[in-house]
Amino acid sequence: MQQDTDITLITPDAPIGADTHGGRAKCLQRLARLNLPIPPTIALSFKAIQRIAAGDMPDMRALLSQLDEHALLCVRPSSEDSDWGGPRAVLNIGMSGAMCETLGARIGPEAAKRLYLRFVESYAIHVARLDPDMLDDMPGDPEDALAFALRVYEDEVEEAFPQDPAVQLAEVLRSMARAWDGTTARLLRQAKGAPADAGLGLVVQEMAIGLGRGECGSGVMQLVNSKSGARQITGRYLSQSQGRDALSGGKEALYLERDPRGPSLEELAPEAFAQLKSHLSEMREKLREEMQAEFTIENGKLHLLDGVRVARNARAAVSIAVALAEDGIIPREEALMRIEPRALNELLHRQVDPEAKRDVLARGVAASPGAATGKIVFTAEASQAAAARGEATVLVRRETTSEDIRGMHDAVAILTERGGMTSHAAVIGRGIGLPCVVGASSIRFQTAARKLTAPDGRILKEGDEVTIDGTNGEVLFGRAPLLDAGHDDSFQVLMGWADDVRDIAVRANADTPMDAQMAHNFQAEGIGLCRTEHMFFEEARLRVMREMIFASTSADRAAALERLLPMQRADFADLFRIMKGQSVCIRLFDPPLHEFLPSDRAGHRELAEALDLPLSKVTRRVEALAEYNPMLGMRGVRLGITVPEIYEMQVRAIFEATLQVAGEGVEIVPEIMIPLVSASREVELVKGRVDSVAAAVRSETGRDFAFRLGVMVETPRAALRAGDIAPQVAFLSFGTNDLTQMTYGLSRDDAGRFMSEYVQLGVYPEDPFHTLDLDGVAELLSIGAERARAANPNLTLSICGEHGGNPESIAFCRAAGFDYVSCSPFRVPVARLAAAQLAV
Ligand code: PEP
Ligand code: MG
Repeated sequence: MQQDTDITLITPDAPIGADTHGGRAKCLQRLARLNLPIPPTIALSFKAIQRIAAGDMPDMRALLSQLDEHALLCVRPSSEDSDWGGPRAVLNIGMSGAMCETLGARIGPEAAKRLYLRFVESYAIHVARLDPDMLDDMPGDPEDALAFALRVYEDEVEEAFPQDPAVQLAEVLRSMARAWDGTTARLLRQAKGAPADAGLGLVVQEMAIGLGRGECGSGVMQLVNSKSGARQITGRYLSQSQGRDALSGGKEALYLERDPRGPSLEELAPEAFAQLKSHLSEMREKLREEMQAEFTIENGKLHLLDGVRVARNARAAVSIAVALAEDGIIPREEALMRIEPRALNELLHRQVDPEAKRDVLARGVAASPGAATGKIVFTAEASQAAAARGEATVLVRRETTSEDIRGMHDAVAILTERGGMTSHAAVIGRGIGLPCVVGASSIRFQTAARKLTAPDGRILKEGDEVTIDGTNGEVLFGRAPLLDAGHDDSFQVLMGWADDVRDIAVRANADTPMDAQMAHNFQAEGIGLCRTEHMFFEEARLRVMREMIFASTSADRAAALERLLPMQRADFADLFRIMKGQSVCIRLFDPPLHEFLPSDRAGHRELAEALDLPLSKVTRRVEALAEYNPMLGMRGVRLGITVPEIYEMQVRAIFEATLQVAGEGVEIVPEIMIPLVSASREVELVKGRVDSVAAAVRSETGRDFAFRLGVMVETPRAALRAGDIAPQVAFLSFGTNDLTQMTYGLSRDDAGRFMSEYVQLGVYPEDPFHTLDLDGVAELLSIGAERARAANPNLTLSICGEHGGNPESIAFCRAAGFDYVSCSPFRVPVARLAAAQLAV
C-alpha cells in the first residue's frame, strides 16, 4: 500500500488530522479505531484537493488499487468544520453498462438500472454541468429513463458517457475540488465564519448498496432527541434507498424502533438495529459525544458510513453535556465549557423557530432577547388598555421614557426608533425579560399618525401584528412561529456546577420586588444595583413625587417626603425579605427631577388640576427644571447635595426597613450607593448626612444596625480620583453605562442610530454599550480599581453597568480582581456560566 499522507487509506494509525484531511476523515478514522464496520475509505487531504483544483490529478489507478475493484464508490466532502458546507456527495461512481449487468445479477436488473440512472443524473448535473431542466421529461420506467438520460448526456456533451471508473472518479474529484473554489461557495462559508483559506478534503468510500434483495436501505439514527436532549432513539430509515434519501422526506420512512403504528427497522433487521444501538453507545462513550450514525443495510447487514455530532439546540446541548458528565464520560468542567453562555438565552426566553421562514420588515439593535408577537400600539395608554382586554401588544415608541413604564409592563415586546444597548427601553426590557428592538431607524415612525413604514414601503397601522425578535434585533411581519422557553433539571445541574467552580460573584440589578424575586430565582448572590427612581412611577407615588418637586417651601417638601418615606421603607423591606439576607445595594436617587413631570401641554394641565395650581405656575416650574443636557446636569449626587432631603428620606427608609426585617429574623447589612460622583468632596458631604441620619435612627429606636456606604464610579473623573474617594467608603461599583457614554462623549440614548454603521465600518470593533471597550473605558476601570485598592485594600469592587452580563466584560472584571458583577436578572445564568468558564 502506498503511504502518502495526502492520499491515504483510513486505518487506525494513518496520519490523518481534522486540520489536514477534514472533520469527516478524522471522524471515520475514530470509528475505524473503535473497530466499527465502516467501509474501506481513502482520505484526500486539503493539499491533494488544492492540487487537483489546479489541474494536477493524482494517479487514479494507484488510488483505485487500494479499493475493491468490484465496488461502487462515493465521494463525500470533508471540510475542517462541517458547518462550512462543501460540495454534494456523489454516489455510485463505477456504474457503467458492464457494471449494470454484473450488479443486476446480484441485486436485480431494475435496481441496478436505478443506480446507474442515479449516477448518470448526478454526473450530468454536477460534473458535466448540464442544465437539470434537460432531464425533466424522464420516463417512469427505469430502463427507458436510463436510455433517455444517456442520450441527453451524449447529445449535450458530444461524448459517450464515460465507462471507466478511473475517468469517472477523476472527473468527480476535479469538479468537487473546483466547486469549493467557486465564488458562491467561498462567500457562503466565509459568512459562516470560515477563514479565507479554509481547506476541503474529500473521502472516497466503497459503497454499501442500499438497494437489492433482502432487507436493504439506508438511514440515520441517534440516541437522543435533538430538541430536548432526552434519551430517545430518533432518526429515519427507508428501505431500498441510499445516501440521504431517508432524510429527503416525500417517501414513507419507517420507524426505527418497534412501533404499533407501522413497520420498523427493528423488526425488519433486528440484528442490524441492535448493532446500531450498541455502536452508538460505544461512540458516545469513546468519542465522548452524542453521535448520529449514517448507515446502510445490505441484505440485513449493517454498514456504518459515517458518524457526525448530533445536531442540537441549546436546551439539548445542556442536557447532553450534563448527561455525559453524569455518566462519567466527560468531566464536569468540560460539560461547562461545551455550552456557549449566550446560548442559555434560548432556554430563558421564547424564540422565533429557527426553521421558520422570516419575513423581516427591518433590523435594529438586539436590546433584550426573546421573541413575542403582538398588535402594534403607539402609546403606553393603548398598551395598558389592550392588556386590560387581554390582547398582546407591541409598544412602539420613538424612544421610551419613565412615563411609559407601565405601558411597557403591559406589552409583550418593545420597538423603538432611537436608542442603543443602554437606552431606557433596553434597560427596562432586559430588566423585566421583555423582547426589545431599539434603534430601528430604517423604519419610518409616524407615531402621531399611528403608522410605521418599513424600508420596503410596507405600511403598518395600529392593530397590525408584528413579531419582535429581540435576540437577533429583527422586526418580522405578522405572526412568526415561536418556540417556548424551557429549562429543565439539567439546566439547574449545570448552573450548580458553574457555581462550584466560579470565583467571581454574580449579583442582579433589580429595582422592584418582582425583579428581586426573579433575581433570587436565578440564584443571584444579592442585588448589585437597585435603581430607586424606578420605584416612583406608580400612580400614587408619582403624585406625591410631583408635589415634592413643586413644593415652594422646605416644610412643604418635607411633608411630601414624609409621605414617600413609608412607601420606600416598605419597598426596601420587601427587597430585603425576598433576598433573605443577601446583600442589597441601593442606589440613591439618580435622575433629573424633570423626568417626573409631564412633557406636553395636556399633561401640564392635568398636573395643574391635580395639584390645584395655576397652569402658568406648572409650566414655569417645568421650564425652570428644563436643562440643555439633563444627562450631565442636576442629577445624581448633585441633586443629593442641593436637595438633601430626598437622600435623607431614602437613607432613613433603608435603615428603618433594616430594623424592621431584623425583627423578623432577616439579618441584612444594606449597601447605600451614591451615583454620579465626580469629586471626593461630594462623598464627604453625603457621608456626613448619611451618618447623622443613622445616628438619629439609632437614638430614636435604641437599636443598632450596620450599613455600608459606597460610590458608583460612572464619570471618568471619579475613576481617576478613586484614590481620594476610596478611603471614605466600603465599596466602589463601576457604572459602565454612563462611564462609556462619558468616556466616548457618546449619548447612550442616541447611539443606536449610527452604531451598526460604525461597527460595520470598523470604527468601533463592537457596540461599546454592549461589550466593554477594553482599550479605553476598561483602562479607566483598571486605573480606578488600582488607585482605589491602593488607598483602601478592603474595598469591594464591582461592575453594575449592563456590561456586567457580557461574557467578555466579565473576563476583564475577573482579571482586574473585582469581587462581583451585577446584571439584569435574566442575564444572571449567562454570567454565572461565563464566569465559571473563566475559572475552569
Ligand atoms: C450606569 O450608568 O452604568 C448604571 C448602571 O446606571 P444607569 O444605567 O441607571 O445610569
Ligand atoms: Mg448611571
